[in-house]
Amino acid sequence: MPRLRIELTKLAHNARSLRELYGAKGIRITAVTKGVCGSLEIARSLQRSGISSFGDSRIDNIRRMRQGGIAGEFMLIRSPVPSVIRQVVQWADISLNTEIAVIKLLADEAVKQGKVHRVILMVEMGDLREGILPANLKPIVEQALELPGIQVAGIGTNLACFGGICPDDSNMGAFSELVQCVQDQLGIRFELVSGGNSANYQWFTAAQDIGLVNHLRIGESVLLGCDALTREPIPGLYTDAFILDAEVIESKVKPSSPIGTIAQDAFGQVPVFEDRGDIKRAIIALGRQDADIQTLKPRLPVRILGASSDHLVVDSAGQPLAVGSRVSFDIGYSTLLRAMISPYVEKVYIPDRGEV
Ligand SMILES: *Cc1c(COP(=O)(O)O)cnc(C)c1O
Repeated sequence: MPRLRIELTKLAHNARSLRELYGAKGIRITAVTKGVCGSLEIARSLQRSGISSFGDSRIDNIRRMRQGGIAGEFMLIRSPVPSVIRQVVQWADISLNTEIAVIKLLADEAVKQGKVHRVILMVEMGDLREGILPANLKPIVEQALELPGIQVAGIGTNLACFGGICPDDSNMGAFSELVQCVQDQLGIRFELVSGGNSANYQWFTAAQDIGLVNHLRIGESVLLGCDALTREPIPGLYTDAFILDAEVIESKVKPSSPIGTIAQDAFGQVPVFEDRGDIKRAIIALGRQDADIQTLKPRLPVRILGASSDHLVVDSAGQPLAVGSRVSFDIGYSTLLRAMISPYVEKVYIPDRGEV
């Protein structure tokens, strides 16, 4: 089986460092666990490192963490799915919203359950995924403020997820101005001004003025220690808390270019190979079912030639690979998602040893 080794000490360190970094300018963070399917082991380590707010895009992950005894605030970071409103109110304390129709459903359900459900209204600042258009924000806030069972906890925005738009002084400045404007017009102050995700790191470190932003939802940089815009390591963080490894199942000298007429491969692509004569090739028992090959970096000097669902083919000229030996890989976010969800990838948690 491919194996994902998870060093909880490193994840706890990353969470603690980011909490302190952002905290120094008055920003609270919610640790986002959707990249690890709401793993209880990971949530427990984050909790020990001082994280008290957890965010996930799936209500099922939130339920599992709650039932698993993780204490803290749980934030649903995707707009609630209307058919599971009951579970949203039952398990999440707070959710990100853009549709008044959904907020009304939340209100009805919250009243039914005798709860107050908190909402953050998401505003569109250019990335064109979820968000209320700025011009429509004030009337929606006003409507939400009227609803029983609902507390408007704040305003949020999200960039760099769909359109790849960088958070910068211009869009983040406009976001704070919009929040200020709505606050002034309605004579209220929002508790949370939630400015974004891991992609806000460069904006945050460079900004003279972070405006009204006092909250971020941070997933990838806790998990993988990198800046989500460039995938460069963030100083002082571990980028190797997750290492994927798998076993070599074939190792031979073979031609570098396939023999015969080339048509589509297993994934509908027409592959192109350079003829470099015979090369040392190995097959590793890892495939596209377990990993996103684009975000897999071998920790040995071997080169990935391609992969099908269950076979990863590498050029092993730089490193002799014996059948039965294991090859380790650094992974990116899309491989993390796939490996965590795959029942074919064994998860090995290395216990949290406390601060190192
Ligand atoms: C996924 C997500 C996040 C966390 O993003 P990272 O890049 O992993 O930090 C934050 N907010 C929303 C709305 C998200 O969908």
